[in-house]
Amino acid sequence: MFALMQSTRTHALHLAVDPVTGLRAVVAIHDCRAGPALGGCRYLAYPDDESAMVDAIRLAQGMSFKAALAGLPFGGGKAVIIRSPHVENRAGLFEAFGRFIESLDGRYITAVDSGTSTTDMDCVAQQTRHVTSTTAAGDPAPHAAMGVFAGIRATAMARLGTDNLEGLRIAVQGLGNVGYAVAEQLHAAGAELLVSDLDQGKVQLAMEQLAAHPIEPSALPSTPCDIFAPCGLGSILNGQSVSQLRCAAVAGSANNQLTSLQVADQLEKRGILYAPDYVINSGGLIYVALKHQGEAVGTITAHLARIGTRLTEVYAHAQAEKRSPARVAEALAEKLIYA
Ligand code: NAD
Repeated sequence: MFALMQSTRTHALHLAVDPVTGLRAVVAIHDCRAGPALGGCRYLAYPDDESAMVDAIRLAQGMSFKAALAGLPFGGGKAVIIRSPHVENRAGLFEAFGRFIESLDGRYITAVDSGTSTTDMDCVAQQTRHVTSTTAAGDPAPHAAMGVFAGIRATAMARLGTDNLEGLRIAVQGLGNVGYAVAEQLHAAGAELLVSDLDQGKVQLAMEQLAAHPIEPSALPSTPCDIFAPCGLGSILNGQSVSQLRCAAVAGSANNQLTSLQVADQLEKRGILYAPDYVINSGGLIYVALKHQGEAVGTITAHLARIGTRLTEVYAHAQAEKRSPARVAEALAEKLIYA
């Protein structure tokens, strides 16, 4: 774990257990130079404890990059609560998590992520003020989706020469809080949707409401389409999956889509334009950060609108430097964080 912390330049890793509620939680703080570390809390099952720590560390680094490129006065952090099959008192579990966050003295501010909800954050808020995306503050997912939609249009423009999505075949992997909202906007813009989710109910809803074509989860990445939009969990772009892709571009909300930067080079070699995840999905962070600072809705909306432009700038740099957009975005973010 120390080697990973060193290679990602992660500042600290905090662990907590609470025998009463069964809480087992990890908080990774990547960097606090620009301000307190801000990032969501995942509540998921993991194959082992080490995977949970690795997930938190890698996600926290992504949050630092995301905040830096979005020009937000926050560092990057992420929390993971390891989900066990039986939880008797979910509210109590999140209150215990809130006490853990309070013990970090404001160095980390938490928010919702996969597996958590605004109601969970209300429980956290009973124990600490270092929390965003409570019921009162609002769910970041629709804002993340708004940014992803703008990013998909910018990607279509850069790769296909048009930001008119009408008739484009877009494959959405994962119809959760963000993915479904992205699919709704794509449908409204006239795109033809190919969708998959592990939850058949969500697929059924997309078929009924968005005229989406259902595809088996294992088949979606290799299904021919214009744009593949990964909106489920991370690490779906590896050497093998990239060799099977049959799309012109990859642009979706999932965090940590690439298993390594070499995979980004492989995408580049195949002529597949890749939207760096922490650029295209920064809408959620922008929303929680500005909301936490008490900014008005108009300011937040204007900030969200810049995501497409930022992505276009990354693509232009990448083309000029003949490098993958992922390498360009990482170099820009590191310059901003460590300069
Ligand atoms: P969610 O848990 O609501 O939805 C994820 C969905 O993906 C679920 O419906 C799940 O069944 C599905 N899924 C998982 N693996 C899949 C697979 N292999 N094939 C098909 N479907 C699969 O999560 P969310 O909040 O919508 O977030 C989705 C992604 O976007 C995550 O990576 C998250 O970190 C990232 N993200 C979320 C936000 C936010 O505000 N919620 C902001 C930025 C980035």
